[in-house]
Amino acid sequence: MPAPYTGGCGCGAIRYSMTTEPLISYLCHCTECQRRTSSAFGLNTQIPAENLVIEKGTPAERKRRADSGNELGLNFCGDCGTPLFSIPGARPQIRVIYCGTLDDPSWVPVKLHIWSDSALPWAIPDDGIERVSGQPNMADYIGKV
Ligand SMILES: [Zn+2]
Ligand SMILES: [Zn+2]
Repeated sequence: MPAPYTGGCGCGAIRYSMTTEPLISYLCHCTECQRRTSSAFGLNTQIPAENLVIEKGTPAERKRRADSGNELGLNFCGDCGTPLFSIPGARPQIRVIYCGTLDDPSWVPVKLHIWSDSALPWAIPDDGIERVSGQPNMADYIGKV
C-alpha cells in the first residue's frame, strides 16, 4: 500500500496522515485498550513521531497510566471524543496510532497479540499469530515477525 495513509476522528475536526509504513501492528488486549475502545481490544500500529502529520485541527491530550505502569499521552478529538493516537511515556519518539481511525484499516498487517493474559476468552483467535502475555519490548519484534 502506498503511503500516506489517512485517517481522522468521527466529526472531521481532526485529520491526519502517516507518511511511512508501520513499524509494527498488533492487537492489544490490555485493559486500557478495552476501556478506550469500549470493546475487546485495540488495533494499534507504531510509527516514528515525525511520520505522523496532523493535517487538520489540534488533538486534545490527557495523560494516564497504562497497564505497563508507564505514562501514556492519549490524544483525542476534543469535539467528538474519538481517541486517535497515544504517545508512550517511555518512548516519546513513537506514536501509537489507533487504527480504527484510519479511512481504511483493512490493510493493517497484524503481527502480534499483546497483553494476551487480559484478553477476553472469545476475542483471541487461534490464528497462529504470536502471543505475548504483557507489554513486549517492541524492538525485539519490529522487522522480525
Ligand atoms: Zn472529532
Ligand atoms: Zn493496549
